Amino acid sequence: VIRSAPTTEHTAVTVPAHTAPQAVADLDAALAVLRARGLRLSGARRQVLEALFCARGPLSAEEIERHTNMAGAGCDLASVYRNLETLEEAGVVRHLHVGHGPGLYLPAGDATELVVCERCGARADIDPRVTADVRAAVQHATGFSPRFDHFPLAGLCPRCQER
Ligand SMILES: [Zn+2]
Ligand SMILES: [Zn+2]
Repeated sequence: VIRSAPTTEHTAVTVPAHTAPQAVADLDAALAVLRARGLRLSGARRQVLEALFCARGPLSAEEIERHTNMAGAGCDLASVYRNLETLEEAGVVRHLHVGHGPGLYLPAGDATELVVCERCGARADIDPRVTADVRAAVQHATGFSPRFDHFPLAGLCPRCQER
């Protein structure tokens, strides 16, 4: 009987659920956070992070799977989701919701706030000074402090308004 050496693959790691997002500036900083938390840097996990840091905007799990060769490495969509969950719990990744579509993921330190078109799905970054003004106006009127980093502002893009 050949027994394989125990791997660290299934070592139980205790991760406090949903650590506050960390302002990791780049891939190396994110990897350092994972290492410090004793999380294994599997190829799949590293590829997910690389895809998020190289992307020009937030990505869905499906897009991450396409951007990486994870399918070739025998990793399916479910493992992309599992890795995203772990990375989010570690505080290096966050997500946002665009309309009825799937959640989109981006580095936690990326302060991007979006405006999205509910008809065609177009999206654009909002200048943080603008959202600061909107936040202040809404807070003044209602006492609520709105956030646009988790649920972006939705409406109609210029093209859809013309129709
Ligand atoms: Zn959410
Ligand atoms: Zn539109």
